Amino acid sequence: MSRLIRGGRVVTATDAFDADVLIEGESIAAIGTGLSADEEIDASGCLVLPGLVDNHTHLSMPFGGTWSCDDYDTGTAAAAAGGTTCIVDFIIQYVGGSLKDAREEWHGRADGAAHIDYGFHMAITDAQPNVIAEMGDCVEQGITSFKVFMAYKGALMVDDEQFLAVLEETGKTGGLVMVHCENGDAVVRYQKEAMAAGNTSPKYHAWSRPPEVEGEATGRAIRLAEWTKRPLFVVHVTCEESVNEIRAARDRGLPIFGETCIQYLYLTVDDLDRPDFEGAKYVCSPPLREEKNQAVLYQALRQGALQGISTDHCPFNFKEQKELGLGDFTKIPNGLPAIEHRLTLLYDRSVRAGHMSVVDLVRHGSWGPARIFGLDKKGALAPGFDADVVVFDPDVKHTISASTHVMNVDYDPFEGWEVQGKPRFVLSRGETVYADGKVVSEPGRGRFVKRSIFEPAVAS
Ligand SMILES: [Zn+2]
Repeated sequence: MSRLIRGGRVVTATDAFDADVLIEGESIAAIGTGLSADEEIDASGCLVLPGLVDNHTHLSMPFGGTWSCDDYDTGTAAAAAGGTTCIVDFIIQYVGGSLKDAREEWHGRADGAAHIDYGFHMAITDAQPNVIAEMGDCVEQGITSFKVFMAYKGALMVDDEQFLAVLEETGKTGGLVMVHCENGDAVVRYQKEAMAAGNTSPKYHAWSRPPEVEGEATGRAIRLAEWTKRPLFVVHVTCEESVNEIRAARDRGLPIFGETCIQYLYLTVDDLDRPDFEGAKYVCSPPLREEKNQAVLYQALRQGALQGISTDHCPFNFKEQKELGLGDFTKIPNGLPAIEHRLTLLYDRSVRAGHMSVVDLVRHGSWGPARIFGLDKKGALAPGFDADVVVFDPDVKHTISASTHVMNVDYDPFEGWEVQGKPRFVLSRGETVYADGKVVSEPGRGRFVKRSIFEPAVAS
């Protein structure tokens, strides 16, 4: 069957122009005028965008004795409702466990549950030689990126010896190393200091992880990548200290890449100081920063020092989950729900506010992540690409609320925000998954995507 998205303004990573989009089966067949099809979708007055790619999500993720509360059904339904048509989620190796076991466990949760297509990164938390030897299998199976944590000491953190082993192995197997940059030893020291002084409330989460802790780890990670002659992707960059390290590395010609997340563009450290423990709703790592960093992040995106904007979606209910940290901020599960709101917030608070163009939105929210993470048929409106398309109404006004969002979490960090712009239709491989305010797809239609290897020769 063929479908024609008629009368909209097509936005790509380089241009915006009036045209129709012809879909044959699961793929885009043509962009142009004078086209016809079996069925038409009215896009008049709308922007027509490639579906967004979210390369940083944590669905059904174990953390601190609990689990993130969106699973692959509810989380991908929320993504679809927000115009995201492909995610790359993190498999987490258990300390002492194999990558194969972790892979099977995560596939078991995701396969048959997702509404949209998904890939996996492999997070290595215990880089013993037998685990390093498994990395090649991951790459063969289309899991072509590996994440290490320089924080969460005693849980997810690797030391520099293990980090180097992971980097070096990708020199043989191919694949991109991603890194969470915070100095885990420093964090533990500051956490102890705060707790000993009786400073137990959520705002001390941010106090114990200052920008210097992120900047130091970013610089160290880049040095390790440089020594091993490997590319590196720095996840969730929040502050000037970290941006400066990435920019300096790229100025030296190194293939260092990075992203920020929407919460760092719109929320600030002041949100952690909300009364009645509500600051816990804003606890994520690295923490939200002072507002002055937002201009730095926008500048880094404009100048190409950062290439993507993801969500790091990792939701925990306020009741019973965030509340685990009452009286001890170190026990608050880390993460925010955001998977549903990226497109609308980027449009309303970044494009309409004059920080970026809608072309930039597509480049940072879809095309760039798709290219870096080897999603060869995602992130572009062009013949042969998957027909993952958002018909976005830029004029509709609405209010964000936990009472109406699709995410399976009992609060919304953007509660009460009045915003403009919302998807009207969302298509995944040619099939409508969201229309007129409702998710209309069945769980299990989304497919696992094997990703190709991205090997940057030089910083681009
Ligand atoms: Zn994350």
